[in-house]
Amino acid sequence: MRAFTYERAATPQAATRAAQADGAKFIGGGTNLLDLMKLEIETPSHLVDVGALPLREVQDTPDGGLRIGALVTNTDLASHPRVRAEYGVLTRAIVAGASGQIRNKATTGGNLLQRARCPYFYDPNLPCNKREPGSGCAALRGYSRTLAVIGTSDACIAQHPSDMAVALRVLDAAVETMRPDGHTRSVPLDDFYRLPGDTPHVETTLDPGELITGVTLPPPVGGRQLYRKVRDRSSYAFALVSVAAIVDGDSVRLAFGGVAPRPWRVEAAETVAQTAPPAERAGAIIDRAFDGARPTAQNAFKLPLLGRTLTAVFEQATTEDQA
Ligand SMILES: Cc1cc2nc3c(=O)[nH]c(=O)nc-3n(C[C@H](O)[C@H](O)[C@H](O)COP(=O)(O)OP(=O)(O)OC[C@H]3O[C@@H](n4cnc5c(N)ncnc54)[C@H](O)[C@@H]3O)c2cc1C
Ligand code: SF4
Repeated sequence: MRAFTYERAATPQAATRAAQADGAKFIGGGTNLLDLMKLEIETPSHLVDVGALPLREVQDTPDGGLRIGALVTNTDLASHPRVRAEYGVLTRAIVAGASGQIRNKATTGGNLLQRARCPYFYDPNLPCNKREPGSGCAALRGYSRTLAVIGTSDACIAQHPSDMAVALRVLDAAVETMRPDGHTRSVPLDDFYRLPGDTPHVETTLDPGELITGVTLPPPVGGRQLYRKVRDRSSYAFALVSVAAIVDGDSVRLAFGGVAPRPWRVEAAETVAQTAPPAERAGAIIDRAFDGARPTAQNAFKLPLLGRTLTAVFEQATTEDQA
C-alpha cells in the first residue's frame, strides 16, 4: 500500500474543502476502498474520513418519504422499521449483498460508489480502461461471464455490482450531495451513474470532491416489493442477474442488476405488463428492456436467465398475495 495522510472531517463543508487537495479521497466504511488501496488500484495520497459527520440518521421527509444519511450503515438501513414495512425491496436487496460483517461497516454513500468487480480491474498486469484510461479492455477478449450485457461500450463492459442501488432505482431515489463550494443538489439516481462510453473511469456525474450527504426516497408506493438475486453460490457473491420489483396487480416497476454499468430500468418496458398475456409477460418485458443488448458469447446466458428470474418474481408476488 502507498503512503497516505489522513484526516477526520467534522462537518460536510470541512470534508468537501479537504477533498480538494491533490490526490484526496473520501473514505466511508472502507470495505471497498481499503481493498483497492492494498492492491494499489486506488492510490489516494490523502484520505478524508467522513465517519464522524452527522449523517447517520434515517428521517421522515415532509412529503411522507425518507431521507437516509450517507453514513447510515447497510445493516441499519435494512433493519429500519419504515424501510422494512414500506420499502421492503430495499431491505431485501441489502441483505442479499456481502456479509453481515461487511454490511455493519458499509455506508449508504460508499455502497453507491463501490467500484467494478471485473477481474481485470483488479489485475494491474492486464489492460483496463477503467483502472488506466487508454490502456485497453482485457475483458473484451477475455473472461466476461459475469460482466454487463447492455449499456456497455467498446471501452468497457463492466457491470455495476451494488444490490442496494438496484432497489433504490426501482424506488425512484435521488442522491443528495454537497459540492466543494458548499452548494447542495439532488440528483435522481437515473442521472447519477454514467454509461462508460469512451471514459469508463468516470463512473458518476459527481464533481471531484463532491460529497454524498444522503439519499431521498419518495413516499411509499405499496405493492409487493421483491428482490431476487441469482449468483454462483448462495451467499457472499455478487449478482449474475438480479431483479428489484414492485408488483401491484398489472402495474409493475422493475430494475435489473448485474447486467449493466448502472442499475438498469426501462420504464417503457414496464407498461408491457399491462398488455402481454401472463404466460408471455416476463419474456416480453425482458425483450423490451434489453432491446439493443450486446452480450458476449460467455454472458449471453444472462438474457434467458433474466426471463426466468422475472417469471419467478411474478410467481412469488402472486404466492405472497394469496398468503
Ligand atoms: C467480500 C465482499 C463481498 C461483497 N459482496 C457484495 C454484494 O454481494 N453486493 C453488494 O452490493 N456489495 C457487495 N460488496 C461491496 C460492499 O457493499 C461495499 O464494499 C460497501 O457497500 C462500500 O461501502 P463503504 O462505506 O465501505 O465504502 P468505502 O470503501 O469507504 O468507499 C467506497 C467509495 O465511495 C467513496 N465514498 C464513500 N463515502 C462517500 C461519500 N459520503 N461521498 C462521496 N464518496 C464517498 C470512497 O471515496 C470510495 O471511492 C462486497 C464487498 C466485499 C468486500
Ligand atoms: S470491462 Fe471495464 S473494468 Fe473490465 S477490463 Fe474492461 S475496461 Fe476494465
